[in-house]
Amino acid sequence: MEPKKLTELKTLLAEANDLDSAVSVLYWDQATFMPPGGGNARGRQLATLARLHQQKSTNPKIGRLLDGLRSYEESLPFESDDASLIRVARRLYERAVKVPPAFMGRLYQHNAQTFQAWAEARPANDFARVAPYLEKTLDLSREYANFFPGYEHIADPLIEAVEYGMKATSVRTLFGELRRELTPLVHKIAAQPRADDSCLRKVFPISQQAAFGEAVARRIGYDFERGRLDITHHPFTISFAPGDVRITTRYSEAFLSDSLFSTIHEAGHALYEQGVNPAFEATPLGNGTSSGVHESQSRLWENQVGHSRHFWRYFYPQLQAAFPQQLADVPLEAFYSAINKVEPSLVRVDADEVTYNLHIMIRFDLELALLEGTLSIRELPEAWNARYQADLGITPPDDRLGVMQDAHWYDGMIGGAFQSYTIGNILSAQYLQAALRAHPEIPDEMEQGEFATLLGWLRKNLYQHGRKFTASELTERVTGRGIDIAPYMRYLREKYGELYKVE
Ligand code: ZN
Repeated sequence: MEPKKLTELKTLLAEANDLDSAVSVLYWDQATFMPPGGGNARGRQLATLARLHQQKSTNPKIGRLLDGLRSYEESLPFESDDASLIRVARRLYERAVKVPPAFMGRLYQHNAQTFQAWAEARPANDFARVAPYLEKTLDLSREYANFFPGYEHIADPLIEAVEYGMKATSVRTLFGELRRELTPLVHKIAAQPRADDSCLRKVFPISQQAAFGEAVARRIGYDFERGRLDITHHPFTISFAPGDVRITTRYSEAFLSDSLFSTIHEAGHALYEQGVNPAFEATPLGNGTSSGVHESQSRLWENQVGHSRHFWRYFYPQLQAAFPQQLADVPLEAFYSAINKVEPSLVRVDADEVTYNLHIMIRFDLELALLEGTLSIRELPEAWNARYQADLGITPPDDRLGVMQDAHWYDGMIGGAFQSYTIGNILSAQYLQAALRAHPEIPDEMEQGEFATLLGWLRKNLYQHGRKFTASELTERVTGRGIDIAPYMRYLREKYGELYKVE
């Protein structure tokens, strides 16, 4: 029998969760179908709901119920659903009560205005227009961090909000290790002849791209009965419940990779959310556990699966049939080499697997500098361009392809926004290695267009748990160790060693 206090707790948490889901629906609408004229009202609506959500989730009654449930929690195994729910609810509650509801209201209102300004300023290449908004974002980000006094680095509370247990120092150390291993590989590949990706840069009518992207998402297991695919500026996945997990994409007629791989990426996020135990709906366990583990799934499906030979041995004939004029006389190997072309580039979301993490490290370092106060918003475009020149050897021709390319700083806080992509890349290789150890037949099945064994393994070992375990608990359970760059580097060296004939 469930204790009465737990039933009461679940009721309160469900109300808070419903307000949060309503915020998500309004955000999804803003980023997909809302006309520009809706911007101001939407900002106010989001602010109201965010404030109410913050009030509901910091109701002192939740605190009292959590206290009253301590002995029940301790009587249960750590892994039990009830113990996990109480443990995770307590952790989130203790964080939430530190942030005043009025602050969340101000933040959401500001975010909605900033996002709107960015959406208009970006195509116009007008950084000056968004700079005042970003200055306020930086102030708000610092204000948020200061609700958690006692941090080592001002970015820590922002990182911990999405990546529980990680801090600026631990991320810096991890990135430092990765950079040392990655940079020589980037240089060796750069010394080789560039792959030819002209087969991806023809005219690809959008309706066929949409049909093919949908078919791929469906085939790997994305459930359209519990989701949908729409168009946006900056693709994202959003979950209102395990039964309604939506993905978005954007199309470029002139470049096939853009939508195709972003659709697979978002479908990977969505497979995770659709795979959460439905019993966790409307509880704090009902979502993926951290941004890093989330990115591990989007990147696993996008790259390790979606950029593999096995995957395309099955899908390429279908792609050729969808685009006969463009691809009929392009052999599979030429296509495989094109989609895996390594080249220092300006846009993170289009970057190849090898140079991708350099884009993240640039953003992470700039975020820390902004929060520390050693870099100002006005100096940001120049600092951005200088780092691209230093790390990738190229300079953005304008801010549209530079500092204004990502939505992140324009729809949320500065800090905590980027590290998870690289953490996800590292984890994705650890998880896939564990899956392949359990099921060496997975690559052969992919060649037949079968993904059920891989998806089933991921659901059983990762997805179903939702937020029950932290990223490090989950990684420990699945791989027997903590985060480790070795499997990721081995994967990159093997794949790109063969493609570029380097050691
Ligand atoms: Zn993602």
